[in-house]
Amino acid sequence: MDQQFSIMDTDFDFIIVGAGSTGTSISYYLRRFGSRVLLLDSRGIAGGNTGKSSALIRTHYSNELIAAMGKYSYDIISRFNSIGFSGLHQPGMFFPFDEKYRETAKENVEMLRRLGIEEVESTPKEIERHFPGVALEGFDYVVLEPHAGYADPVAVSNSYAEAARKDGVVVRVGKEVARVDPKEGMVSVSMRDGSSVTGKKVILATNVWTNKLLGDSGLSRSRFLRITASQHAVVYLKRPPAYQGEKPVLWDPPNLAYYKMEGTSLLALGSLDPQIDSREVDPEANLPEVADYEYIEDYVGRLISRIPGMGDATVASSITGLYDMTPDGQAIISPLDDLGFEGVYVCAGLSGHGFKLSPAYGLITSEMVTGVEPERATFDWRNFSPDRFSRGKMITSKYTSIGTIY
Ligand SMILES: Cc1cc2nc3c(=O)[nH]c(=O)nc-3n(C[C@H](O)[C@H](O)[C@H](O)COP(=O)(O)OP(=O)(O)OC[C@H]3O[C@@H](n4cnc5c(N)ncnc54)[C@H](O)[C@@H]3O)c2cc1C
Repeated sequence: MDQQFSIMDTDFDFIIVGAGSTGTSISYYLRRFGSRVLLLDSRGIAGGNTGKSSALIRTHYSNELIAAMGKYSYDIISRFNSIGFSGLHQPGMFFPFDEKYRETAKENVEMLRRLGIEEVESTPKEIERHFPGVALEGFDYVVLEPHAGYADPVAVSNSYAEAARKDGVVVRVGKEVARVDPKEGMVSVSMRDGSSVTGKKVILATNVWTNKLLGDSGLSRSRFLRITASQHAVVYLKRPPAYQGEKPVLWDPPNLAYYKMEGTSLLALGSLDPQIDSREVDPEANLPEVADYEYIEDYVGRLISRIPGMGDATVASSITGLYDMTPDGQAIISPLDDLGFEGVYVCAGLSGHGFKLSPAYGLITSEMVTGVEPERATFDWRNFSPDRFSRGKMITSKYTSIGTIY
């Protein structure tokens, strides 16, 4: 461990609660402002939902703002060497669409190309080349993002935190924050172990646990942020020999599933089902850590209906993690003074696709808390204000029925 605990007697400029991909990225960006920064987590770095992530990296979004953030983030992660190790693999990613979405997807490809994103109009035959025997129903129009893939979310978070630590950010894990209390222009942060520390500004990067912390800090339930938790499972299978080797990720919107070909022999099978996104669970409950039998049977069935040869795959393991869902599936990035928490800010509600956008969240949040005018900011964080839901200013997606593709 770096500095001794006397550091808690010090006033910090910024205290970040949460050391997942979001909080560590914010710490990395804030270190550049020469500010005194403390990064805290009750678990370890990436010990929350980041560590469960499929960590798919793509820029194919249908909302221009989110796509631009995706491009910014992709550019950082694809040149991550100056920060640390990303574990990035770029086998490409297929986005097949049915007739219903053909025109929308075409317009989207044009929009993404205008942003400088490489999108290739591909064909069902190309998918077949990689996945012999694949059923092509509902794959009427195919987009390939040739440089998309996946990274290592634990390595990325640790790299951000380590780079920040080298520049003077204090990192403390195993420290659960019990409450945050603004007083006299500062914010006091009290730990479950009885210690406390003060900062000029506190940033909550606390994912599904954000409302719990705000509630424990005195916020009434009726004023909670519109963030709910939903549980998602990923099933890992060992691919049969015919499908081994480096292969692109395949989205399967008609089956509301994605197939991530991990390494050369694993397949991570995940859900794109908006109904699962909206099935609320209590993040404080003792939730199962592996997928149940019915879920595995259902999703393996979807995989086999798409690629019958995967009938010879064997289930290796499964994990579950939580999505911090908002009504439009996009983050809340905002000061919380309207809720009575002056000096407290939030970046949470990332809705199950926040790893790939972690560089953008770090940049946006650090610009916000250091006083960059929103009009001059790289991305205007007012788009992510929590009152957008009541003002009818939701961040919209053109693929309304396809879960987290957005
Ligand atoms: C199964 C699954 C698959 C996913 N797949 C993808 C994908 O393919 N691509 C993609 O881009 N995204 C994906 N995501 C989403 C992505 O992983 C998350 O959006 C992102 O990693 C969340 O990072 P975070 O730092 O906001 O949250 P977390 O990683 O959950 O970190 C929050 C941290 O806050 C800490 N904390 C909370 N309360 C307190 C407190 N009171 N005191 C101290 N510490 C506290 C927690 O311990 C935790 O470490 C997936 C998520 C899951 C669960």
